[in-house]
Amino acid sequence: MDIKYTIDKVKDSIQKGGNNLVDKSQNLLEISKSSAKVSSLEREVEDLYEKIGRRLYKDYKNNEKVSDYYVKHCKQIEKLKKDIIYLKKGISKNKNKKLCKNCGEELDSDAMYCSNCGSKQ
Ligand SMILES: [Zn+2]
Repeated sequence: MDIKYTIDKVKDSIQKGGNNLVDKSQNLLEISKSSAKVSSLEREVEDLYEKIGRRLYKDYKNNEKVSDYYVKHCKQIEKLKKDIIYLKKGISKNKNKKLCKNCGEELDSDAMYCSNCGSKQ
């Protein structure tokens, strides 16, 4: 075999190998860029789902027509919210605090007015 030919072959394959490495790392970069984009778009979708849910609950609270399927879940949310308030009240009492009657802000137990909304207690 011609030595020149062999050297050219080796050079060629090194170059190709090198290019492959560059291609591969560009591919990896593309993949990680795309994956990050997918995650951010998926988060956006989740945010919109949540927005729809909040809007639906608001409609329910405003006595607007909401289909039965959602009423069940809205009632569950109401119940959970009551439980949360009940527990928060208990926690506040233990800390010698109370919750504002109007906005739910935690206040000292002897506070006359809310520091958040100004309501008389
Ligand atoms: Zn308040």
